[in-house]
Amino acid sequence: MRDLSARLKDCAVNTATLGFQATIEEVIDAVARAGFGGIAPWRREVEGKDIGAIARQIRAAGLGVPGYCRSTYIPAADKAAFEQNIEANRRAITDAAELGARSFVMVVGGLPAGSKDIAGARAQVAEGTALLLDHGKAHGVRIALEPLHPVYAADRSCLSLLSEALAMCEAIEGTVNEPWLGVCIDVYHVWWDPGLRQAIARAGAARRILGFHVCDWLVPTEDVLNDRGMMGDGVIDVPKIRRDVEAAGYEGFVEVEIFSAGNWWKRPIAETLSVCRERFATAT
Ligand code: ZN
Repeated sequence: MRDLSARLKDCAVNTATLGFQATIEEVIDAVARAGFGGIAPWRREVEGKDIGAIARQIRAAGLGVPGYCRSTYIPAADKAAFEQNIEANRRAITDAAELGARSFVMVVGGLPAGSKDIAGARAQVAEGTALLLDHGKAHGVRIALEPLHPVYAADRSCLSLLSEALAMCEAIEGTVNEPWLGVCIDVYHVWWDPGLRQAIARAGAARRILGFHVCDWLVPTEDVLNDRGMMGDGVIDVPKIRRDVEAAGYEGFVEVEIFSAGNWWKRPIAETLSVCRERFATAT
């Protein structure tokens, strides 16, 4: 396993961790100044701006972009709305290419309003992902399905298990040597899964691990969306999961992604980055 205390260049900061307190331009500078090797921006920080200029600033700062966050939810109540969702994602994938992102992160969505048909939602996700995979290939951007904790199945992601995401990858793309479709493994969402080790090994063997997100699960959790913890502050054995992910062949960025309205988002950016740097070394 890599020694992250000596390899901060292998560590990336998902900008959500800093609470969107500053402009993306300021955040790029802060992340680079703190010595990290990568940055994962969100569409809300980038869309409507000069994306070419942001991409140039990221490159000039010496940062890589592990992923671009994140997809518009796919499942919709009717065909027209489904097409709109796909089109919004195509535009975002084009932007991801311009940013030099290694992958486009897909949080796939849950049930359309008024629906109780989770199987139908999953079928829409599979259909939409296949369409977006074609667009990603055409633009040189890999598509990373991020399964979310089942607590979000209704409203954010009907894709919950890593094994389920892998099965979807294989059903859509088949067995290939250089996959364009893969998974993003976020410890917050998958740490509890008794089949996690096996699924990580399978994902690695298929070369489908496209991203690895770290944070921690606090006990008690005040809010399952915006009360994530810093690595080391909760109950996830983050180093153990990272060991499995790297043993499976993953060599990409380890990305910190913390949604924390009550704590980290209230702190100065430099302080949060400093604690991230320390916890990459001691608790990741
Ligand atoms: Zn994540």
